[in-house]
Amino acid sequence: IGKNIVGVVLGCNNYEVIDLGVMVPCDQILKVAKEKNVDVIGLSGLITPSLDEMVHVAKELERAGFKTPLILGGATTSRAHTAVKIAPLYSAPTVHVLDASRSVGVVGSLISDDLRPAFVAENNAALERARAAHANKRPAKPLLSLATARDRRLKINWGQYTPPQPEFTGTRTISPTPLGEIVKFIDWSPFFHTWELRGRYPAILKDATVGEKAKELFDDAQKLLHRIIDEKLLTGKAVYGFFPANSAGDDILLYTDESRKTVLRTIHTLRQQLDKPADQPNLALADYIAPANSGKADYLGAFAVTAGLNIEPLVAAFEKDHDDYNSIMTKALADRLAEASAEWLHHQTRVAWGFGRDENLSNDQLIHEEYRGIRPAPGYPACPDHTEKRVLFELLDAEKNTGIRLTENFAMYPASSVSGFYFSHPEAKYFGVAQLAKDQITDYAQRKNLSVEETEKWLGPNLGY
Ligand code: SAH
Repeated sequence: IGKNIVGVVLGCNNYEVIDLGVMVPCDQILKVAKEKNVDVIGLSGLITPSLDEMVHVAKELERAGFKTPLILGGATTSRAHTAVKIAPLYSAPTVHVLDASRSVGVVGSLISDDLRPAFVAENNAALERARAAHANKRPAKPLLSLATARDRRLKINWGQYTPPQPEFTGTRTISPTPLGEIVKFIDWSPFFHTWELRGRYPAILKDATVGEKAKELFDDAQKLLHRIIDEKLLTGKAVYGFFPANSAGDDILLYTDESRKTVLRTIHTLRQQLDKPADQPNLALADYIAPANSGKADYLGAFAVTAGLNIEPLVAAFEKDHDDYNSIMTKALADRLAEASAEWLHHQTRVAWGFGRDENLSNDQLIHEEYRGIRPAPGYPACPDHTEKRVLFELLDAEKNTGIRLTENFAMYPASSVSGFYFSHPEAKYFGVAQLAKDQITDYAQRKNLSVEETEKWLGPNLGY
């Protein structure tokens, strides 16, 4: 959506924007840039692997002798990454754009003979500062060895605990999902962040500076949302399931059945290695599942849900009318519906698991997740490895059951989808694994049967060495 907003903002300022779409091969970008003799090339990165792809594009631009300025933005990008990994590879100006609204100023400066020299000099100085900061950045304390981090795992007293048993094992599909009912599970705050308005809903509607704009956006969103629901313009599907599970070290073993003799699939989790105060454990998601030797019958849940099926014709219709605003609005609403579907489905799961049956939560409590259990999603801080989506999708037969497809970089298509694991233990909390040391990367690569190099590629931002 960031990329779309850049397109609209530049379009409104009389730039001609050629949008090549998502996951565009490098040679296509170079080819069009050359053919159309563009003034600026922009790349947007949503997920971690995009960062490597940007490095590749920068190299290729240099090799092909391009002199066109390069601007970079999107959720995973940062000035540090631009400074350290990309700018050194490309001799033309390379600029990280923090948010879409700044793209007009940046592009304006880059194409102006008057403004460019000073702008480029300041940009280079900023990149140089970022590189210096990066070079000096040593972790306050060195990372713990994997062995020590494991010693400091979360120690749950399993002897005193009986894991809840779900009412079924295996998977269930919900097709279609009741989007009309799901609307009330929407967390609206991130909707405003999409449009680069900062603040929390509903207070933002009354905000002194952005209140008026926010109210206008919100009213437009309600109108389109009602159309989407009434005319069934989007379709949602979901699959979820429960599997007999026990942990083995930092892995979670899922068994074919209750006899727990045959392993169906293994989920690999990563452990925090920051040196934390003694009363804080070094967490891995596996800590929340009863170990095999505890003799306890535990379970792991899994889910994949989308609210974006059929989004293409709707977006295409708006784009045909040059209605960029509603095209972005559609995607923003589909994203909201997907997250709301995840919240709704999580509720179904807690009911199926038993402990959620007497839950009586207000909407606010739901949105603030004041309930038992978590639903960590591969690619997010507790489990930053996107490739674990492969196992997740196989377990759930998610492509067939929901129509969500995994791209070769493990992004989900339609983008308005959420997938993850369910943990039921009352102590289960979201966390971030943060920086990882080489010993864990090597160990993890071995457990997953991947090369260290490949593993480093997927876990790039988490490498603490
Ligand atoms: N209510 C918010 C949720 C955004 S987070 C919204 O509507 O946008 C998106 C998803 O990431 C959540 O549904 C959850 O599955 C997962 N998640 C959140 N924090 C996480 C963490 N620390 N580690 C792993 N997954 C996380």
